[in-house]
Amino acid sequence: MVYRHGIYTDLADCTLCPRNCHANRIEKPSGYCHTGAGIPVASICIHRGEEPVISGKKGIINLFFAGCNLRCVFCQNYEISFYGKPESLKYGLYGKQPEIRDWSVREVADTIAEQLDAGYHAVGFVSPSHVAPQAVAVIRELHNRGYHPVIVWNTNAYEKAETIRMLDSLVDVYLPDFKYITPSVARELSDAEDYPLYAAATISEMYRQRGNRLHLSEDGTVQRGLIIRHLVIPGFIEESKKVLRFIAENISTGVYISLMSQYYPTPFTRGPVSLQRTLYEEEYETIKEEMYRLGFRNGWIQDIGSHFHYRPDFSREHPFE
Ligand code: SF4
Repeated sequence: MVYRHGIYTDLADCTLCPRNCHANRIEKPSGYCHTGAGIPVASICIHRGEEPVISGKKGIINLFFAGCNLRCVFCQNYEISFYGKPESLKYGLYGKQPEIRDWSVREVADTIAEQLDAGYHAVGFVSPSHVAPQAVAVIRELHNRGYHPVIVWNTNAYEKAETIRMLDSLVDVYLPDFKYITPSVARELSDAEDYPLYAAATISEMYRQRGNRLHLSEDGTVQRGLIIRHLVIPGFIEESKKVLRFIAENISTGVYISLMSQYYPTPFTRGPVSLQRTLYEEEYETIKEEMYRLGFRNGWIQDIGSHFHYRPDFSREHPFE
């Protein structure tokens, strides 16, 4: 891949993610993700609600990118992920949308540098799969300015393993979702039948790089490692069991798992009727028991009531507060 002004030139014929659109994103926002070659920033804010080792006591600087290369029918960040896509017009999302525009690398680095100067230790890139080259340009710009924060790659894992190989020396902590392992479920819920194939390869590459160990600083925040997230979806308990079983059998039972119960139906949620409710306690208990049964020994389990607290509003300056 070749740089041009910090952006890889192959965005003119984009095959960055498994969609392989061959879209010319330099010319205009295009492809499945409807994204251009700029940096579509939805929010740069302090987030205190990630896993304890990620947020620490003060919080993490999260850069939320607008747009996405998946189309999850239950998207929890629908206000920003459908940016630019036809659905955002169809479902009337524009009424609630925050102000989103393309920022320059310098603008993003300026904003992050200001927050780093204020004492924050880590920067999370949230939903970076469709803008990986732009994220890399921001990381390099921070390095050029002498900033070396902990970089967290907070991703849906619908990426190519080669992208993850490219990130080895730039990213410190991988924080991927592992959503599904059954192709038909991935098609029904995210319009990506090949998600399991790519997510498995991507997360395996992350594991090859980072292994089971989390490197923690004295204050207990993570400096380097891998944490696999799994959001339990109402009505899809068997799928959750299969994902956990896949991780146990093909990755490791020693890897850090973050089991999440925070699912809630948004005004945008479509699809199966079970998606219109939160999780039943017994559903979550079943998955917790399966985790223990399989022998997982590291990680975090969200409280069942978490969906009350996790309702971001990206039209606010601080979406999570
Ligand atoms: S990043 Fe966007 S344009 Fe490129 S292949 Fe993926 S969905 Fe298509």
